Amino acid sequence: MDCLFCKIIKGEIPSNKVYEDDMVYAFHDISPIAPVHFLVIPKEHISGAAAVTPENSAVIAHIFEVIAKVTAEMGLEGGYRVITNNGDDAGQTVKHLHFHVIGGKQLGWSSAQGD
Ligand code: AMP
Ligand code: ZN
Repeated sequence: MDCLFCKIIKGEIPSNKVYEDDMVYAFHDISPIAPVHFLVIPKEHISGAAAVTPENSAVIAHIFEVIAKVTAEMGLEGGYRVITNNGDDAGQTVKHLHFHVIGGKQLGWSSAQGD
């Protein structure tokens, strides 16, 4: 399968790793929109939020455990935002489920409202 994030997981494309375990991989976004901007992805290929099912959803809970742990280690006590874009209307460019974690500054909300 020609999936950019599957290639990153396999190490075929380099990335700047933040965290890894047997279920998930996290790495810095190549085009950060805030001082902190990393992506957390399941190692299993799931195309997006719309492809989450009872059979594969356990990794989603684990991803949020990882986000809580990593953001605490980064000192983001002041807050952070978690975003997943699903589908073309949301601007999903990589069709492998990923959660953006952004923070390190006071975040506006206008772009998240879709203007
Ligand atoms: P989305 O638009 O929600 O699909 O987000 C895809 C994200 O992947 C964007 O924020 C890109 O900057 C990021 N991205 C694309 N290629 C890479 C890469 N090779 N390494 C790290 N992040 C990437
Ligand atoms: Zn993939």
